[in-house]
Amino acid sequence: MKAMQVQYDVIIAGGGMVGATLACLLGKLGKRVAVLEAYQPTVFSPNDPYDLRVSALSRASQRALLDTGAWDGIAARRAFPYEAMQVWDATGSGEIRFDAADLGEPDLGHIVENRVIQLALLDTLQALDTVDWYCPDKLAALVVNEQHVTVTLHSGQTLQAQLLVGADGAQSKVRELAGIGMAIQDYGQKGLVCVVQTEFPHQFTAWQRFMPGGPLAFLPLAEGFCSIVWTLPADQADAMLRLSDSDFCRELSQALDYRLGEVTAVGERAAVSLRGRHADSYSQERVVLVGDAAHTIHPLAGQGVNLGIKDALELVAQIRQSSGDCGSTKVLRAYERARRGDNILTQKAMDGFRLLFGNTLTPWKILRNSGLTIVNRMGFLKYEMAKRAMGI
Ligand SMILES: Cc1cc2nc3c(=O)[nH]c(=O)nc-3n(C[C@H](O)[C@H](O)[C@H](O)COP(=O)(O)OP(=O)(O)OC[C@H]3O[C@@H](n4cnc5c(N)ncnc54)[C@H](O)[C@@H]3O)c2cc1C
Repeated sequence: MKAMQVQYDVIIAGGGMVGATLACLLGKLGKRVAVLEAYQPTVFSPNDPYDLRVSALSRASQRALLDTGAWDGIAARRAFPYEAMQVWDATGSGEIRFDAADLGEPDLGHIVENRVIQLALLDTLQALDTVDWYCPDKLAALVVNEQHVTVTLHSGQTLQAQLLVGADGAQSKVRELAGIGMAIQDYGQKGLVCVVQTEFPHQFTAWQRFMPGGPLAFLPLAEGFCSIVWTLPADQADAMLRLSDSDFCRELSQALDYRLGEVTAVGERAAVSLRGRHADSYSQERVVLVGDAAHTIHPLAGQGVNLGIKDALELVAQIRQSSGDCGSTKVLRAYERARRGDNILTQKAMDGFRLLFGNTLTPWKILRNSGLTIVNRMGFLKYEMAKRAMGI
């Protein structure tokens, strides 16, 4: 028997952090939403070891997650506030420190496992009778006409809506099927991720040391535990994966300049290739891209998902203001106009930091070390930078 075609206002391909945020916000607005997610998220238990993939969520993202109704579910599972950030250059004496207390804020943001964010959002959207969750399922084909987009799923089900959103990550199938091109820059680096235990407490501080091969970040979890992201040239990252645990801990302690003493234990390690990407366009007739489907940036300042959540907020704002057609050209153009500039600016800023701190020539070393020291002393500029990163 032929499956019935189901009607929605919006179909979202990808129920990751950005797609699920968008689904909750649109569902709360009363829009009929279908979310297609390829993988069933794994169940969470408080005794589970920490996941390898974590995000530093800005205050602005926290606010958005409060609006979705998912923040309580995140906090009830596990989320770790960080109150300060200490950044320094391995090749000199330049150093900068940001303190939430100086800004009159309780924290600068939270470190949360990606899976925890997704699961809390999933609880929220499943409680909304406006949102349907198709999982595990995937987009197989799409047909666009002036009024609608019709989507066929791998399961054979067909869905129709005013708008299809690609929130399906860096390898977006929606982007591919819509024929939207993408500029890709291979950084030649990998981000090595793992969870470690350290000799000294992390002091609720995010620690980041810039080295010529790339930055190393220690992000605070529960006391004694940190999640690390170590950017390295690809071959060096592969070599680090092959080291024994004890040799790796020794390398890592040294790389962080022993700021947290010795690294005493390490869990599973993984490394992902780092690429900057930007879609040539964020939309086509009745199709729009958000989050990593539209752009990926270097993780050195932990802004990727924060930008994606800003995309989701903007798309919701444009849909709220529209006359009722969620996929009108007016909505899609206004969304792209509002988001492209901020995303490009952040991507360029990350590329600038990467090049500035990766350069071993003496004039550049002097420039960045004196720059860090000067900015550290300039309260106003320093806290404007911090506020921008926090999204407040
Ligand atoms: C090492 C590293 C560290 C990072 N640290 C930070 C950080 O501290 N802070 C920060 O803000 N960002 C960070 N990022 C970036 C952040 O992880 C991404 O920006 C974020 O995951 C993007 O979310 P998304 O929902 O757009 O895409 P994704 O997280 O990729 O989610 C896409 C979803 O779509 C699903 N999907 C894929 N294809 C299909 C399909 N065809 N049909 C249906 N579903 C599909 C996937 O299963 C997935 O659930 C980091 C990135 C890396 C690599």
